[in-house]
Amino acid sequence: MDPSRPHVALLPSAGMGHLIPFSRLAASLSDLCNVTMISILPTVSTAESCHFNDFFNSYPKIHPLYFQLPPLDSSAYPNADPFFLRWTRIRESASDIFSHLLKSAQFPISAIVTDIAAASAILPLAKSNGISCYVLFTSSAAMLSFFKYFPIYHDSNPVSIGNVELPGLRTVPFASLPRPLHDPNHLFTQSLIGNSLTMVKSAGIIVNTFESFEPDSLAWLRGEQSPPVITVGPLPPVKMAISTVTTVSTWLDEQPERSVVYISFGSRTAMSKEQIRELGLGLEVSGYRFLWVIKTSVVDTEDQTELSQLLGDGFLERVKDRGLVTKGWVEQDKVLRHKAVGGFLSHCGWNSVTEAAMNGVRLLAWPRMGDQRINADVVARSGLGLWPDNWSWEGEEGLVTAAEISHRVKEMMSDENLLKTAQKVGEAARSTVMPGKGLARLVRKFEEFA
Ligand code: UDP
Ligand code: UDP
Repeated sequence: MDPSRPHVALLPSAGMGHLIPFSRLAASLSDLCNVTMISILPTVSTAESCHFNDFFNSYPKIHPLYFQLPPLDSSAYPNADPFFLRWTRIRESASDIFSHLLKSAQFPISAIVTDIAAASAILPLAKSNGISCYVLFTSSAAMLSFFKYFPIYHDSNPVSIGNVELPGLRTVPFASLPRPLHDPNHLFTQSLIGNSLTMVKSAGIIVNTFESFEPDSLAWLRGEQSPPVITVGPLPPVKMAISTVTTVSTWLDEQPERSVVYISFGSRTAMSKEQIRELGLGLEVSGYRFLWVIKTSVVDTEDQTELSQLLGDGFLERVKDRGLVTKGWVEQDKVLRHKAVGGFLSHCGWNSVTEAAMNGVRLLAWPRMGDQRINADVVARSGLGLWPDNWSWEGEEGLVTAAEISHRVKEMMSDENLLKTAQKVGEAARSTVMPGKGLARLVRKFEEFA
């Protein structure tokens, strides 16, 4: 560690969708300051533990700090989402995590960057120890606007929730709200409100987005009484010191330029088995080449379904000349950079959206849960992709048919204007990331308090 530079500690919560932007931020910061990254053990998924291992091996400058969570009797929470449960447990253990950090630090911490999911517990501890606390918001500025305004909305609508009008920005329709928010008393609703009210007292909110992608939300956020909103996106992928030749990259190398549709719904399961089959048929009927990453469980360690059984007799055989289907972890940022990829059918997790934006890859948005409809709206408004907003999502009945999927895939892949607008988004994204102004601004702020 270099004592002349600030020392920042980063606390990711759980899930690859949170860990990935944290690693990217840590890697980018590690050239400019001393970085400690906290790793809460045991991780929920294997993907997270592999990622931590590879990451710490690849960035020896970053100091890993492990914190072992005490065992939990999970039978007390039979239906809880394991990632959401982990966020709750991190908040409950915040003071132990914090004391461990202070005791183990080789020299004083100038700032802590907490995951938004742990903000309500970490920020007061940082304040009482005189450490400035920043929040990494792991979604879009559009979602951040909603997140920031929701407690005010909830105050005036405590009993029933409807369309949420963000004054002077836009209305987030009821149909686009994360499902648990339909219930004002849900634990998720309460924890969102707690994190939101605390977030506004932080030293700054860091967002993995860029000005030209979300100008209206960023202007609105900065116009509100707010801590600084610091855009650092799109954060470049981390460079892992692992072997990179895989079946997927070999297969992609053999495909013509921009001919492949890439399909992924993120790091966890996203749809029913029936819908997966229908999607398979839709891809088959579309006639396009495709690379399809399927997850069949919420936590990867529980994924035991055979692909052939899932997709139905003969599917894999019928598409073998133009389709590759895998259940494994693919290096998505590499896939999206590959010249064979011409379009991306995505659930619109924010990391996936920023990766597509950075590479100028057009999207067909099929949000499935949480913040994804709010993100899909950014995709549609920015010209990065198409969003058929009548397609079903969490908690809704109704199968999107193979014919409809095939029609939309063809529409995305054949739309030259969409290709051009997506490429323009890509150019703007790459020109933003190069000078790294947002990051420099963040480091200057750390230095003020070092
Ligand atoms: N990802 C990947 N390989 C996979 C599945 C996911 O590299 O097989 C990465 C993807 O590139 C993204 C992250 O995992 O960076 C998932 O985050 P996102 O916000 O897109 O969705 P989530 O999984 O949180 O729903
Ligand atoms: N920026 C920010 N919040 C603000 C103003 C600017 O995060 O209130 C970020 C902006 O996204 C950009 C960087 O700071 O990445 C540089 O901003 P700008 O070009 O306005 O000014 P500079 O810092 O170069 O003077």
